[in-house]
Amino acid sequence: MNGTMMDQPLTISSLIAHAARYHGNTEIVSVESDGEATITTWRAVEENARRLAAALARLGVAQGERCGTIAWNNRRHLEIYFGVAGAGMVCHTINPRLFPEQLVYIINHAQDQVLFLDRMFVPAAAKLRPHLKSVKHFVYMGPRDEEIAGQLEGVLFYDELLAAEPSDYAWPDLDERMPSSLCYTSGTTGNPKGVQYTHRSTVLHSIAGNQPDGLAMSAKDTALAVVPMFHANAWGTPYIAAGVGCKFVLPGPKLDGESLVKLIDTHRVTLALGVPTIWMMLLGALEKTGSKAESLKRTVVGGSALPTSMIPKFRDLYGVELIHAWGMTETSPLGTLNQLLQKHEGLSEAEKGKLREGQGRPPYGVELRLVDDAGNRLPEDGKTQGNLQVRGHWIVESYFAAGKSALTADGWFDTGDVATIDQDGYMIIRDRSKDIIKSGGEWISTVELEDIAISHPKIANAAAIAARHPKWDERPVVIAVKAPGQEVTSDEVLAHYQGKVASWQVPDAVVFVAELPLGATGKVLKNKLREEYGEVLLTAG
Ligand code: ADP
Repeated sequence: MNGTMMDQPLTISSLIAHAARYHGNTEIVSVESDGEATITTWRAVEENARRLAAALARLGVAQGERCGTIAWNNRRHLEIYFGVAGAGMVCHTINPRLFPEQLVYIINHAQDQVLFLDRMFVPAAAKLRPHLKSVKHFVYMGPRDEEIAGQLEGVLFYDELLAAEPSDYAWPDLDERMPSSLCYTSGTTGNPKGVQYTHRSTVLHSIAGNQPDGLAMSAKDTALAVVPMFHANAWGTPYIAAGVGCKFVLPGPKLDGESLVKLIDTHRVTLALGVPTIWMMLLGALEKTGSKAESLKRTVVGGSALPTSMIPKFRDLYGVELIHAWGMTETSPLGTLNQLLQKHEGLSEAEKGKLREGQGRPPYGVELRLVDDAGNRLPEDGKTQGNLQVRGHWIVESYFAAGKSALTADGWFDTGDVATIDQDGYMIIRDRSKDIIKSGGEWISTVELEDIAISHPKIANAAAIAARHPKWDERPVVIAVKAPGQEVTSDEVLAHYQGKVASWQVPDAVVFVAELPLGATGKVLKNKLREEYGEVLLTAG
């Protein structure tokens, strides 16, 4: 027997239609490829999204087919997000930092019919074109441009495509379980795997992830999405921004600290979202420029472990609250967010800061559990480490075109992370299961060792890896980058660990390098470091 309420599908077009209707004049700031900021509005974004939807139908793209993007965060990319999904096609965002062979693999695997390109990616697309079997149309994300036309034969121009369409296109009725967007994991081991979100999972993720104890974005905010739109849908911020109708700032290609400080100060940004390396650069740039980032109230940090020194720095120097979040492409990505409970109100700032170092608690719609390698449930006592598994409304069920479930027999997704969870549900990522150091049967967290190294004033960045050891199987080695102009020895760094970890957890060696190798999403490539330095303890004798 059914209840008697309206049954409206949860579609992405309903988010942008809401933004246009109730926040139509609210501004979107978009930094274009040439570095110029342009201003548009939610109403104009929706109108262009509808024109794009009409153009795609005219180009012969069918519902359910993929349209790829290789682009930075800018307003045309935002229009593509809504136009493609709103029309019933799938918006496949592609990470431009991938190696050419990975790009070819992903585009062919997704069977992309259309490829939307920002200016700087046109030459790469021209080079890869002979290998891209499915792509029928290449679209340059800009006005007609003869130089671009010369680089890529038959290329279409986004602005011309839209100008040719009437603005009376009506969003089609879609089933909320239809696919809406597709993101590939970066595939540090093996081929990348696609996660195909649905309209329903995206809308539920937007609503539940944005509760006051989550991202808490509101119409009063000016949100800056530093996290790229090709990285897990910019953590869902384009959809959330449309749903709440906030002012939205899209920073384009330049994500260095000084460019971000300028954007924050010029557009009075109140909330910014990005990975820790970005905020390290921002802190450096704030110091250098003397800006106090006065408008900024909150930053959301996730994607990799947060250096703990960042919380008091943002709080004490700039009055900015730092919200730590955890997630992965497979979890849409919001899995946990770190906000405090009522019972924490009486704590000191330092105690609150300590609690907020962890990755936080799940919002409604996500459940976590810890299991051992045999799949037995482990206690949530804040101490016992185990494999972190997750289930919920916006968690992957199977990878794109894999044809088989990605879940355990009882329906949970194994994250590949090793974590603890306490009695209140606060989760702390201790490591990724493939990175953790197994020393004589005991586990040592690389995250913790890195945090200690980075807290040394003469160290700019560090990664801890498992190095092979004749007696203990594996022992920790720290690969460190010195702070600019600083001299520091291995012994000084190792002395910094005394009293901070048990003596058997202190690394065996420190190797100094000029820089750490970063992957396509800005994370340190530990497998590369292991390949290079995994034997240092054997050869050292
Ligand atoms: P990948 O890096 O595998 O391509 P994602 O970008 O989806 O995939 O990253 C997901 C992984 O990033 C998580 O499984 C976790 O290991 C790590 N991660 C994400 N957020 C955090 C965080 N706040 N702290 C520590 N690790 C994190």
